[in-house]
Amino acid sequence: MHQFNSEVEELAKEVLEYSLLRLRTDPPLDGPKTEEELFNLVGNTITENGLGGHQALKLFKDVLAKACISTDHPRYLAFIPSAPSEFANLFDLVVGASALYGGSWLEGAGAVYAENQALKWIADLANMPKGCGGVFVQGGTIGNLSALVTARNTFRSKRKDVSRWVVAASSDAHSSIKSAAEVMDIGILLIKPDKDGSLQGADCEIAIDKYHRENPNHQVFALVATAGTTNLGIIDNLKSIAKCAKDREIWFHVDGAYGLAALCAPSVRPLFDGIELADSFIVDPHKWLFAPFDACALIYRNPKLAKKAHLQKAAYLETLDEDNEWNPSDYAIHLTRRARGLPFWFSLAAHGTLEYAKAMEKTMDVAKDAARQVREHPNLKLLIEPTLSIVAFERIGWNIADYENWSDKLLSDQIGFVTPSSHNGRPILRFAIVNPWTNPSDISEILATL
Ligand SMILES: *Cc1c(COP(=O)(O)O)cnc(C)c1O
Repeated sequence: MHQFNSEVEELAKEVLEYSLLRLRTDPPLDGPKTEEELFNLVGNTITENGLGGHQALKLFKDVLAKACISTDHPRYLAFIPSAPSEFANLFDLVVGASALYGGSWLEGAGAVYAENQALKWIADLANMPKGCGGVFVQGGTIGNLSALVTARNTFRSKRKDVSRWVVAASSDAHSSIKSAAEVMDIGILLIKPDKDGSLQGADCEIAIDKYHRENPNHQVFALVATAGTTNLGIIDNLKSIAKCAKDREIWFHVDGAYGLAALCAPSVRPLFDGIELADSFIVDPHKWLFAPFDACALIYRNPKLAKKAHLQKAAYLETLDEDNEWNPSDYAIHLTRRARGLPFWFSLAAHGTLEYAKAMEKTMDVAKDAARQVREHPNLKLLIEPTLSIVAFERIGWNIADYENWSDKLLSDQIGFVTPSSHNGRPILRFAIVNPWTNPSDISEILATL
């Protein structure tokens, strides 16, 4: 029988106490140390006889954890922060305590059922047709790659005369699209967005047709639209891009890793019209849907095509392939997988979807208020009105070194974490607001240092 001895019993108390303290109190901002500093503080931790649970946990609590920035701190506004709900974090403890296998229905039916319900909520918000489906993968990078591999596989069987497969996307598309093209050893056609940074179908038509005329043996097989760019939160014109793709029998993929979370927010839902035409799309619940790392929802219009591309064949796996059973492993580049969608599912099931819409609207209200504060600030210039929840601006008169020094000091003073970015070759600052615990006063506190 599985029973704790007294050492494990003690450690269980300590671990739960630490976890609950972390969840119950305001997260510390903290910050990195050099490897040398860490070595001086903790030394070698892997030893023949082990440190014991108490000591290893102590090293983590006292040193290692403090050398990690809390991505859910309300003034962590760099990159895309995270803001897991309390329910989602608590349920992650349950997932961690249960040896769940999320790859197959046979082994994880209950977990897969729950994950699929959460995926269905997202698919329904996007008005995807019946029969659509997908899987939670590690992040947007793997989601985009898996979708593009499915797209290429779908067309490769039909066309033997193609010497180079090509994906088309906005020149402002996320770096993961370029990385997917590298991994797949395919070409990439970058199309310039309009003056507001939004890719338009008409420009895609011109660019793709010109490319095909000039490269007769090349074939653009997928067109990627971004629903909320990471830098500025700009949404491409999904409807017109979908039409461009359909007219040319090209796969239409939407990268909404950050932005598509706002499908559940009534105030901005119309901006995503056209998403219902996607052949595949992704959204990261670990970004703006209050789930812990790492979870990206990847959804296909026709999941059978994904299974054709991704199903792994091996003698020992044959028993898993039953027609009426949903094996999440079959829909992306992975086999073994953690049931990583469960913390998101639990929070969604427990809170209800209205709570999600409310939290989402709150972050966008705070972003609007932040834009107002920037506009009224004598030293700052707002770059554009925020579409979603990213606020980008310039500090008048500063060069990149000034921005970097300011950013370093903001962190070392433990006020906040905001890193410089750039736009049209000029350094800028941006706040990415995805945390419902971020308030206008947090924004004022940061702006007061500018
Ligand atoms: C963050 C992001 C990605 C990559 O997602 P990861 O989860 O970091 O792999 C892809 N596309 C967009 C638009 C993003 O914002």
